[in-house]
Amino acid sequence: MSTGSARGRDRPAVRVHETLPARVLIGSGALRLVADEVARLGARRVLLVATPSAAAAAGEVAEALGPRLAASFGGPAPHTPVAVTAEAMAVAGEAGADCVVAIGGGSAIGLAKAVSARTGMPQVAVPTTYAGSEATPVLGETENGVKTTRRDPALAPGTIVYDPGLTLTMPPGLTRTSAMNALAHAVEALWAPDATMVTDALATEAAGGILGALPEVLDDPSGPEARARLQSAAWLAGICLAQTRMGLHHQLAHVLGGAFDLPHAELHTMLLPHVMAFNLPAAPAASSRLTRVTGRDDPVAVVADLARGHDGPTCLSELGVPRAELRGIAERVAADPYPTPRTPSAESLTALLINAW
Ligand code: NAD
Repeated sequence: MSTGSARGRDRPAVRVHETLPARVLIGSGALRLVADEVARLGARRVLLVATPSAAAAAGEVAEALGPRLAASFGGPAPHTPVAVTAEAMAVAGEAGADCVVAIGGGSAIGLAKAVSARTGMPQVAVPTTYAGSEATPVLGETENGVKTTRRDPALAPGTIVYDPGLTLTMPPGLTRTSAMNALAHAVEALWAPDATMVTDALATEAAGGILGALPEVLDDPSGPEARARLQSAAWLAGICLAQTRMGLHHQLAHVLGGAFDLPHAELHTMLLPHVMAFNLPAAPAASSRLTRVTGRDDPVAVVADLARGHDGPTCLSELGVPRAELRGIAERVAADPYPTPRTPSAESLTALLINAW
C-alpha cells in the first residue's frame, strides 16, 4: 500500500535547491552600516566577537553601537573549540546579550554560530577572509580533539556585511590560501551530486572570479578594486558550499585537519590540485567549465601553480604529517567516502596523499 511518501528506491532522482534567507550588504564602507543592521534587528545588547586581527574594525563598530554594545569577546579559535564557546557563552549570559556580531575569519564567524546555536540570538557576520563560513548553515566544533560538523538552516547568519576594505590587511600568504579555500568550495560544487543549474552558474562565476582576481591581488595586495572582486567571488563560493554536498576534497581536509590539527586554509591549498587531478577525468562537465574559466587546457596546472606559489608550507610533509600515517587516512576515507565523481579506493587515495606529501 502506498503511504504517499517516496522513500528509498522509490524516491525519484529529483534535486533539491534550497536557498537560505540572508540579507547581504556588500561594498566599500559597509562596515559603517553594521550598527544600523543591529538596530534593524531590534537588538539592544550586542555581544561583539572579533579576533585581534580585526581589533580596529571592532573598535569602529563598538563606537557606532554605543550603548547597544553589551560585551566584547576577543578569543575565537580555529575549529570552534567548545571550551572557547563556553567562555563566550558566559560573557554573553552576564551581559544579557540579545544579538551576536562577529568580525573576523571563519574562526570568529564559527564562534558566533556556536553562540547563536545555543541561544537563538540573531547574527551579523562581518567576514575578513574568503573562507565563506558566513554563507553556510554549517558549524564544525571540536571537543577533545574530535571535530563534529552539523548543518541546520538556523545556524546561518541572517545578516552578512562584506566590506572589501577589511580584507586589505590580509598578508599575502593568508590572501592566497584563503582564496584557494574559497576556490575549493566552487570546484567541489561543480562535481557535487546535487549540483543544479543555479550552483553550476554560481560555481563557474566564483571559480572564474577567484582565478582572475587572485593573481591581481597578489601583485597589488592594497588594490581595492581587485580585492572587492575577489571578495565577491568568494561570497559566491561560500553559497556553493552551502548549497551542495561536500566531496573528496573537503573530506580529506576534514580528516587530515582533525587528525593532525593542521592550518585550515593552507591544507585546502595544498590538497586542491591533487584532488582536481584525481576527480576531473571522471567529471567532464566540471572539467569543461574549469577549462573555460581558466582559458587553459589544463585547469589543474593553473591551480597547482597558484598553490605552489605559497610562501609557507606547500606539502603535507612540511605541515608535519607523518608519511606512515597516510595509508591509514586513505583507508578511513575510502571506507566511507563523501559522494565524489571518481570512486576512491585505499590504494588510489594513498597515491593521492603521497603526491600531496
Ligand atoms: P581564521 O578565522 O582562523 O583566521 C586565520 C588567521 O588570520 C587568524 O590569526 C586571524 O586573526 C587572521 N586574520 C583574519 N582576517 C584577517 C585580515 N583581514 N587581516 C589580517 N589577518 C587576518 O581562518 P579562516 O581560514 O578564515 O577560517 C578557518 C576556520 O573557519 C576553520 O575553523 C574552519 O573550519 C572554519 N570554516 C567553516 C566553514 C563553514 O561553513 N562552517 C567554512 C569555511 C571555514
